Amino acid sequence: MQSIQNTLKITLLGTGIPNPDINAFGTSTMIEAGDERVLIDCGRGTVIRLSQMGFPLGHTDTVILSHYHSDHYSGIFDLLMTGTIQQPFSNRGGPLNVFGPPGIEDIAEGAWIATRPDRDIRVADNEIDPEHMRIVPHVYVEGIVYDRGGLKIIAIEVDHGEFIRPAYAFRVEYAGHVFVHSHDTRYNENLISQAHGADVFVHEVAAATSETIAKNPRAKIAIDHHATPREVGRVFAQTKPKLAMLTHLVLLPPDPMPINRVTAELAEEYDGMVLVAEDMMTIEIGKNITVIPFHHGARPR
Ligand SMILES: [Zn+2]
Ligand SMILES: [Zn+2]
Repeated sequence: MQSIQNTLKITLLGTGIPNPDINAFGTSTMIEAGDERVLIDCGRGTVIRLSQMGFPLGHTDTVILSHYHSDHYSGIFDLLMTGTIQQPFSNRGGPLNVFGPPGIEDIAEGAWIATRPDRDIRVADNEIDPEHMRIVPHVYVEGIVYDRGGLKIIAIEVDHGEFIRPAYAFRVEYAGHVFVHSHDTRYNENLISQAHGADVFVHEVAAATSETIAKNPRAKIAIDHHATPREVGRVFAQTKPKLAMLTHLVLLPPDPMPINRVTAELAEEYDGMVLVAEDMMTIEIGKNITVIPFHHGARPR
């Protein structure tokens, strides 16, 4: 393990899409830098992945949402409710601050109503402080969303389709280190212009075989909201990250494109190294860049 000081630590808790998949949960990324801890997105199963990584659910009280597709925030209700329980696995000591595009106020209000039955029981049992089960909404726009303790998180507006505006990627800066995560987007010039100098650039990708499109015409609608392998290759070629990674692989059934065809198409545009992300990979950006898969036990318990 590198010295914690001046190291930007990223845990890819979930690297998946809406398809229920035990190996790739909804998107969720823990950012740790100095004393700061921020969760970006909170897709399905985030609380399970937090637990697997040894993080109590109260490890952070700050969540930033990139956009409002379910695979990026459906886990927030579990985190909100289960996080209030005063047990070692949980123990959040206050409300959950959630930063989101416009609409976050509705989610906060809806969550307060939806969680009431559980809250009333636990309050009557003297188990929890009801205010801990509240989402405090914060609306953000493009630019700096979080700037504390040397950790800066910058929202970059991207293009995820005309009915999903705004949608954001994030540039994370700490101690001279830079991590960029595209979240969900088509090929996007604004992201390219703000992703320069990245130590690690994680980008989504989507592709469908002609067999899939023939059998499942709706696959094309989904694919049109994302970046093709060749487009992702162009993004990496233009931004030249030290390490390029793929996540959020939209490879739709019934005949999903094999990953080696995705990487071969990407290689037509980019000749650098590309790593395919998996859930619970830990990335440490310090003196060097270290990527540790879960089965190596990146986090001591
Ligand atoms: Zn998504
Ligand atoms: Zn999306």
